[in-house]
Amino acid sequence: MDQNTLKKLFDDLSYIRTGGSLQELDAANYLKTYLEGKGLKAKLESFKVPDATIKSAKLFADGEQIPCLGYRLAKDSPEEGLTAPFYYLANWDEASLAKARGKIVLFIGFLNRFRYEDLVKHGAVGFIGNNGNLVENNEDIDDKELRPYVSKDLELLVGVNVNIKTAMELVNKAPKEVTLFLKQDRCTLTSHNVVTKIKGESDEEIVISAHYDSVPLSRGVYDNLSGSLGILAILERFLNTRPHYTLTFLWCGSEERGLLGSKAYVEKHAKKLDKIRLCINLDMIGTSLGYALMVGTCDIKLVHFVEYLALMHAYPLKALQGVYSSDSTPFADEGIPALSLARIAPQDDLIIHNRYDDFKYMSLDKMMEDIEFAYTLTKAMANASCLPVKRFIPDNMKEELDYYNCRKRRP
Ligand SMILES: [Zn+2]
Repeated sequence: MDQNTLKKLFDDLSYIRTGGSLQELDAANYLKTYLEGKGLKAKLESFKVPDATIKSAKLFADGEQIPCLGYRLAKDSPEEGLTAPFYYLANWDEASLAKARGKIVLFIGFLNRFRYEDLVKHGAVGFIGNNGNLVENNEDIDDKELRPYVSKDLELLVGVNVNIKTAMELVNKAPKEVTLFLKQDRCTLTSHNVVTKIKGESDEEIVISAHYDSVPLSRGVYDNLSGSLGILAILERFLNTRPHYTLTFLWCGSEERGLLGSKAYVEKHAKKLDKIRLCINLDMIGTSLGYALMVGTCDIKLVHFVEYLALMHAYPLKALQGVYSSDSTPFADEGIPALSLARIAPQDDLIIHNRYDDFKYMSLDKMMEDIEFAYTLTKAMANASCLPVKRFIPDNMKEELDYYNCRKRRP
C-alpha cells in the first residue's frame, strides 16, 4: 500500500465511529468492500451492545444548574431528582471512602469495576465523573457509560459526567447539596467485527487485529484508524501468497466500550481457539513524535525475539512483557500469546479520546516504518516451518491479566 492510498483511507474513514452506531457499521462496510475489491472474502460478525439514549440529565449545586451529560446505563433518578450532600472523593483509600455514605460523590479518573464496587459498598447514592484536562481551553463533556461489566451484580447508581474544569469549580464551591436528574431509554445496539483470512498450508492460525471504532468525541485517527489501516497494509503484502500458517485479519468493533469486539470474537469462536497460536495487535501507530512500543502478554522469550528482530531490521523498538489495554488482551486471557504494537506519542492522553485526535499528529513515513516492522514480524511467524511460540501464558502474566480484568485487586 502506498502513501497516497493510505492518506485516502485516512480521509475516508476519519469520522466518529462509536461502537454499535451506524457510523461504525459504515466503516465496517467500507473495510469489507475494500477487502472484496482485493478479491478476498470478508464477513461482518455481529454482536450485541447494551446502550441507552439519554432523555434528560441535569445537575444542580445548591440550586444552581451546572452543565453535565448523563451517564448512559446508570440508574434513572426519581421524578423529583436525587438530592444528597456533595462529597469530593480525592482518593480511593478506606478513610476517603468511609465518608461517601449517603452522598453524591465526585471522583477524578477512570471508573473501573473495583472503583464502582467501592462506591456502592461504601454507600454512595450517586456519582459525578469527569473528562478533559485543566489546561486546555475546551469545555467538551464526554458522553460516558456505566459499562455493564463494571456494574454487574452491583446496585445501579445515578450518575452524570462534567468537564474537569467544572469538577474543580464544584470542589471549590463545596455545595451543601447536589441534585441529579437522569432519565434514559435503554436499548440494544449491534456492533460488528470485520474478518477475512489468508489461507495457509496449516489450519493453525495467527490473528492480526486492530480496532476500528472510536469514542464519542473523537474521529479516532491515531486511535485507531492507524492500526486498522496498518493491518490492512500488512494484509495486502500477503495477497496471492500462501503462508505456512493461516492468517486471520480481524478489525474489532466496540473496543472503546471495553474490548467488546475481541471478547465477542473469542466467545463466538470458542471451539476453535486451540487453533490460534498467536495474536499480533496494532493500536495507535504512525505518529510524527513518539517511540515504538511492543507489549507482549506472553513468555519473555517471545519479547526477546521481538526485540532482537527489531534490532536486526534497525527498527527502534522498546519491547516489554505486560498487559496492553487493547484487543490482544481477550486472546491472552484465553491462553494465546499476544503482542500489541503502538507508537506512544508524547502526552498521548492529550490527543486521544477527544476532538484533538486528528491527522495533523500523524506521519505517513512513520506509518510506513511501523507497518514494515509489523509485516516483518508477521511474515517471520507466518512462514516459520514450526512456530516456536508455545501456546501458553506464564504465571506472572496470568496475574497481570487478573488485575487488568478486575478479578483480583492489586495488593
Ligand atoms: Zn485504541
